[in-house]
Amino acid sequence: MMDTQCAAPDLNDLTGGYASGRLTPAELEAFELHLLECPACQDEVRTAAAVRGAARSGGRHVGRRAALIAIPLLAAAAVLLLLLPRNPYASLGRVDTAAPYKGIPTRAAEGALLVVDSALAAYGRGDLAQAEAQLTRAATDDAEPGVFFFLGVTRLLRGRAQNALAPLHGVLSRAPNPYVAEAHFYLAKAWLQLARPDSALAQLREIETDRTPLGRTAKELGIRVREAGR
Ligand SMILES: [Zn+2]
Repeated sequence: MMDTQCAAPDLNDLTGGYASGRLTPAELEAFELHLLECPACQDEVRTAAAVRGAARSGGRHVGRRAALIAIPLLAAAAVLLLLLPRNPYASLGRVDTAAPYKGIPTRAAEGALLVVDSALAAYGRGDLAQAEAQLTRAATDDAEPGVFFFLGVTRLLRGRAQNALAPLHGVLSRAPNPYVAEAHFYLAKAWLQLARPDSALAQLREIETDRTPLGRTAKELGIRVREAGR
């Protein structure tokens, strides 16, 4: 039974290919990183592995070649899943709703403005794959902090916490700007997804005394993180 939903449908589509060893090296790397933090995909891989194990012992539906490829991969997947401690902070690190784009001007490098507009339109309608691709292109060194902010949030929403760290730090290194407080908050979310509560708490401490709705939310999240660690 799946008790949670995958936050990254594009990666979730790869579970079958992973269990049967049909992913490209790039897909494999992206999927295994995601697998570390996604209970839903872990469940699907376990199920796929069990189904294929049953088919193998039945012996008729899996060709010799497929079995030779599948066995080591499945063994690797099973070991990976056994070694994986369930991340007790995963639910606290979930980002279910996108940070709203409030129309704060994001003046990107000359010529990239249209790409940014188009990326934020994609973000607004929930087309995260498109938004990430375009924001990644727009995130040049001289881009506005907002480009890095929305790139980081988009990656978090796609279940790619590890890849969200760099753009969110990019917001902080360009301080002051209107995204600094939120960047601390989403960095905390990323660290929770990566099972690093101390790093998450350090980010939350930067904003939890702010007298703003975000400050109060950060304070509550910090309390829950400390409780989860006891
Ligand atoms: Zn997943």
